[in-house]
Amino acid sequence: MTTYDPAMLPAPTELTAPWWSACDGQRLLVQECGACGQRWFTPEAICIHCTSPVWAWVESPGAGHVYSLTVVQRAPRPEFEAPYVIAVVELDDGWSMLTNLVGRDPGKWQNGDRVQVTFRPVGARRVPAFESAVAA
Ligand SMILES: [Zn+2]
Repeated sequence: MTTYDPAMLPAPTELTAPWWSACDGQRLLVQECGACGQRWFTPEAICIHCTSPVWAWVESPGAGHVYSLTVVQRAPRPEFEAPYVIAVVELDDGWSMLTNLVGRDPGKWQNGDRVQVTFRPVGARRVPAFESAVAA
């Protein structure tokens, strides 16, 4: 289990506050463009695909698969307990995010594994990570 110093989390901004609030309620939001319909993460003021400023927060089911992963063997800071897994997860609803994989021996993860979002407490906040969607 990785332990975080809550001070390492970014402070919510006008742009990101809705996303953080949803995480606190264990809901995963993503930006969806009103012009081209595509979704993206991390939060940006304009669509990263077509530069439209017209977009909305929508809720994601948080289901997807591992696109790529790496196991970090040496903790970069004392707040982290190694080994831990950093991954790009492709969500079924058409976007991807850089995240952590949790709840399994780090060496057992493979590209293509089905995952589901979960939310881990970090101080007073909750931060999304992904766990196996397959029953153990
Ligand atoms: Zn767009």
